[in-house]
Amino acid sequence: MRRKTFSALAAVLAAALLLSSCAGAASAPAEEGANAVRSDSLSVEKVEGLDADFLLGMDVSSVLAEERSGVRYTDFDGTEKDLFEILAGCGINTIRVRVWTDPFDAAGNGYGGGSCDVASAAEIGRRAAAYGLKLLVDFHFSDFWADPGKQFAPKAWAGMTIGEKTEALYLFTRESLKTIRAAGAQISMVQLGNETNGGLAGETSWENITALMAAGARAVREICPEALVAVHFTNPERSGSYAFYAEKLAEYGLDYDVFASSYYPYWHGTLDNLAAVLSDIAGRFGKKVMVVETSYAYTADDTDFSGNTISAGSAVARPWPYTVQGQADAVRAVIDTVASIGGLGVVYWEGAWIAVGTSSWEENRVKWERDGSGWASSFAAEYDPEDAGRWYGGCAVDNQAFFTPDGAPLESLKVFSLVRTGSGAPGA
Ligand code: CA
Repeated sequence: MRRKTFSALAAVLAAALLLSSCAGAASAPAEEGANAVRSDSLSVEKVEGLDADFLLGMDVSSVLAEERSGVRYTDFDGTEKDLFEILAGCGINTIRVRVWTDPFDAAGNGYGGGSCDVASAAEIGRRAAAYGLKLLVDFHFSDFWADPGKQFAPKAWAGMTIGEKTEALYLFTRESLKTIRAAGAQISMVQLGNETNGGLAGETSWENITALMAAGARAVREICPEALVAVHFTNPERSGSYAFYAEKLAEYGLDYDVFASSYYPYWHGTLDNLAAVLSDIAGRFGKKVMVVETSYAYTADDTDFSGNTISAGSAVARPWPYTVQGQADAVRAVIDTVASIGGLGVVYWEGAWIAVGTSSWEENRVKWERDGSGWASSFAAEYDPEDAGRWYGGCAVDNQAFFTPDGAPLESLKVFSLVRTGSGAPGA
């Protein structure tokens, strides 16, 4: 009896020690004390001059669809936990979530990619807040993926004049933020579009783009006066493009706080160039700057039978090897660069989007279609026939996640905490 009691106590103590490897959820950044994140296998140099409130974010927009498909996440000790608790325990302080206006067909079938609507953003914001995580709301002002190649107007806004569309965007933003906020989300930043390089909601003139953005900004100021207003562009490697965008926004007098960039090391030039273009914007236009999307592969292998954007044969820049350490090195380097120019923070894109099954394409396809857990379902064809309509399928970034196909965290997830301390002993 005594022995059994002792064993049980030992087990509890052992579990507590294991937990301490990635604990401290909802508390201040794990910089010191027993709850500090440690790693025996990862090498991470401390980033000097990192402010305590430096934004370290994770976009997990697909998480609800993943969970519908049966995905579960575990912490470093193997216990199943809410993803948001795991992330909070590893140094993440902000969750980013995309919002599509109406990512469903008339019969209610989801377009996929998480089928992220206002309700899902509210639920993600609520769960994030339960672990002390803030929310960055990324409005695409589209019914599905918006990027430099696609800025389609939502179905409901088709045929509207720019004046009508501006009012529709204002009302949508206002009501969405009310809903998300009412769920308990701690909204700290709101994006006016996603990768809006010369387009937004079907408009392509800067006069119209900035009119739409201004309507969104007005809604943010009214409903979330404490939140920062962000614009988001990509391709920092294109010489002069960011200065051009910032000049256009200034020319039309847009009210915003943050000039945010995507930075994928495969395609987007050097970190020195990123630092130079963002410093230029910060200095000349008086804006905060940050990286709002980045990611890096920990393996070249696909794990869900649906091809990935990055694989062994990809003809792209490869500054670090596709390993767990290489992934951590990439994240640390981006954080170091943004911190070095006084930037606001760095958000990793979809670090928890993993395989919904490891048996077969056929089994996964059923889940992608039913739950929206792939990048696009066949139902998206009505909105995006040339891309989603032809190439719909599973996850294209499962090899850039911070979790194995079984939902276990990679050691590299600890990088978000270790950048504050260095790996090994706290304060090293
Ligand atoms: Ca894949």
